[in-house]
Amino acid sequence: MPDGTGEHTPVDRRPALLIVNAEVEGVADVDVRCRDGRVVDVGRGLDAAPGEHVLDACGGALLPGLNDHHIHLFALAAARRSVKCGPPDVTTFAELQAALEAAPGEDWIRGVGYHESVAGLLDSRSLDALRGDRPVRIQHRSGKMWFVNSLAARRLGIDTPNGQLFRLDGLLRKRLAEDEDLGRSVEETSRLLAGYGIAGITDATYTNDSTTEAIYRQLNLCQQVNLMGDESLPSGTVKIMLDDAALPDVDHLQERIAKAHARKRRVAFHCVTRTELVFALTALRAAGTLAGDRIEHAAVTDAATMGLLQEVSGEAGHVTVVTQPNFIAERGDRYLRDVPPEDHASLYRCRGFLEAGLPLGGGTDAPYGDPDPWAAMRAAVERQTPDGQVVGADEKLTPEQALALFLAPLDDPGGAPRRVEIGAAADFCVLTRPWNGARSALAANLVAECVKA
Ligand SMILES: [Zn+2]
Repeated sequence: MPDGTGEHTPVDRRPALLIVNAEVEGVADVDVRCRDGRVVDVGRGLDAAPGEHVLDACGGALLPGLNDHHIHLFALAAARRSVKCGPPDVTTFAELQAALEAAPGEDWIRGVGYHESVAGLLDSRSLDALRGDRPVRIQHRSGKMWFVNSLAARRLGIDTPNGQLFRLDGLLRKRLAEDEDLGRSVEETSRLLAGYGIAGITDATYTNDSTTEAIYRQLNLCQQVNLMGDESLPSGTVKIMLDDAALPDVDHLQERIAKAHARKRRVAFHCVTRTELVFALTALRAAGTLAGDRIEHAAVTDAATMGLLQEVSGEAGHVTVVTQPNFIAERGDRYLRDVPPEDHASLYRCRGFLEAGLPLGGGTDAPYGDPDPWAAMRAAVERQTPDGQVVGADEKLTPEQALALFLAPLDDPGGAPRRVEIGAAADFCVLTRPWNGARSALAANLVAECVKA
């Protein structure tokens, strides 16, 4: 059997492909023929045609390529090449110095997560002393402030007396896009995702605009990309951020929803608190729903809010929830500490949505979550925190239900899972073993290959 590498697997694109000896939906020894992006035959004992590339699945399960229904690809690429500059990784000046000294690469150093408990507020002088030979920019963990050294300020053409920049993210991003090889690092991140078997992503960044779309078009990625964003995009789902502390005017919000729907565009709401969720559902109820409208996260869904969700979604199931069970595995202990006990059962629910008849899809929310979809599936099955506590035992999914969160079509995250069948798009995730052996492990190293025809 082939070895699962878990990362950096190049995607093999073969216009004429025959996959042999695969397990498809529990049936062993199945062959699958693909032509120009589609499955054209599924059966046993198919003979290789001249010029056809043959891939031996060695008995492993052949799954459709996975879809991550909520991710931020550019931010993930940026995070992967960033130096962690704050707690818990870095807590002292000496640790900050060591981290910056060990920064990979040769040119820009990008630091994230800084907190003044490490070494007070930084400025260009202190940064020059720490690392003056390369342009350095460090983001405060609030996301609202950057510190740059003198070389970085010069390279960015920014005149700053002390190297402290407030709310200049947009400007920095634009200048840096020209300055750095953004494309290369995004493509590298795309290959990392392919190693997990990811064939499609929905980029859920609310600031995605026509510029982002233009950048995406130039990139050579392993995934099909579904772009959410603001109204400047010509099509696609409109992503609406909600923030408890500054909720928009409800009439204005209804109008925004109605305008999107009038253009056949769905809306997706960022809802991580109960208040945000209730607010979004109230606005949706007033404006009306369009099949495929989405609630992202639904991080806290109590019984009453579940009822409201059901009501607004209606019998037709117009409102899809896209959940991130991986947050239980990543941050569960913090939730158990910080969230009132009566809400523990309402956190990142899974089975509750299915039982309520709501369409449910899965995403990792990387880089805010780990980009490994297998870890997210495992979390949906086990619901275990890093310390081994269980959060919401009633919310556990079966491995098959967890897999289905990532098998739904990109444009219908709560829809029926994609299947390996005639006419289906020919992108696959080949596992190192049959599903019966894989379902109890749900680990990234089960992925032998991500294949496209
Ligand atoms: Zn997100």
